[in-house]
Amino acid sequence: MIRILIYAVIFYVIIYALKGLFSGISRRMGGARGGAVEALDDEMIVCPECETYFPSGIGLSRRVRRERFRFCGEECAGKFSLRGGPPSEGESEGEG
Ligand SMILES: [Zn+2]
Repeated sequence: MIRILIYAVIFYVIIYALKGLFSGISRRMGGARGGAVEALDDEMIVCPECETYFPSGIGLSRRVRRERFRFCGEECAGKFSLRGGPPSEGESEGEG
């Protein structure tokens, strides 16, 4: 019989926690009309050189062969433009 009581208490705690969570979110939505929210607009894009995902906000855009690419950093942009394109698949990777 005690078990039912424990379950009831746990259930009540969960409901209470959810309520607090929702009220917190709604309060945040109402008051966050500042500029900090814009940071969430940063979408993740993949670097064509090293295939690493990074937020477009910190990306480096560079033109290679009349096409615009976005790189994760200066190093990748340099490598990419030196080669003149994306790394080709199946390129021999033997020990040189
Ligand atoms: Zn990269």
